[in-house]
Amino acid sequence: MQDLQGLRAIVTGGASGIGAAVVEELAGRGASTAILDLDISSVPEGQLAFQCDVGERASVDAAVQAAAAALGGIDLVVNNAGIGAQGTVEANDDDEWARVLNINVTGIARVTSAALPFLRDSQAAAVVNTCSIAATAGLPERALYSASKGAVYSLTLAMAADHIREGIRVNAVNPGTVDTPWVGRLLDSAANPQAERQALNARQPHGRLVSAKEVATSVAYLCSPLSSSTNGVALAVDGGMQALRLRPV
Ligand code: NAD
Repeated sequence: MQDLQGLRAIVTGGASGIGAAVVEELAGRGASTAILDLDISSVPEGQLAFQCDVGERASVDAAVQAAAAALGGIDLVVNNAGIGAQGTVEANDDDEWARVLNINVTGIARVTSAALPFLRDSQAAAVVNTCSIAATAGLPERALYSASKGAVYSLTLAMAADHIREGIRVNAVNPGTVDTPWVGRLLDSAANPQAERQALNARQPHGRLVSAKEVATSVAYLCSPLSSSTNGVALAVDGGMQALRLRPV
């Protein structure tokens, strides 16, 4: 399917995991893509990529301008970069709260603001934010992370309201537990990673982790004119975990 033919996309956190799968999926559907990531050392040769810290305004402005110049404009923004945080509300100090909210939430505001002048010139503009079931599920021992993703969900709704009259749609995906290097790192820190992975698979409604490709195809749909009247939704990609009210971690 070439439903994104001719569209120009920037993908934050596109060097790894879900973001890398999104870049592949968008490119496969005909889009030209630029990665904006803190660490672009693993990006394959030939793939447009700009080193960018979404936590820093100057870094974002420079990378978005450079990406727009290289692509000839921007139609699609995938705000996917994010970091985790573990523990209850007692676990993280004020600096850690500020750091995670700055990257996960303000990062989306920064990247989208920098891209808006280009999106306003587009005939097929869309923004997709990588949120999480953590936004609404009440995950145990993920207080800060959940708060950050709750804010991503609210920000998605607010931006959807603000920009639809400019022809810019804003949606989100809410992945469940996705098989990415992030989850790999969490499993590796367990006493028995293989047993932990089996247990994690068994806790999923469909008996396995969600793949990054499955999240990427949902992101691509929300980027595509195929979803042209869809605005302000958070599409669950979790095997039904949230609908079934299961414990994800
Ligand atoms: P990942 O660690 O594999 O990839 C994250 C990417 O973001 C990395 O390339 C990293 O370099 C980049 N990044 C981190 N901080 C950055 C910054 N300040 N500026 C720019 N880039 C930065 O993780 P993933 O599992 O692919 O997660 C991607 C997104 O999906 C995150 O927003 C995460 O919260 C969300 N998510 C993941 C899962 C899951 O189970 N893996 C579930 C729900 C939501």
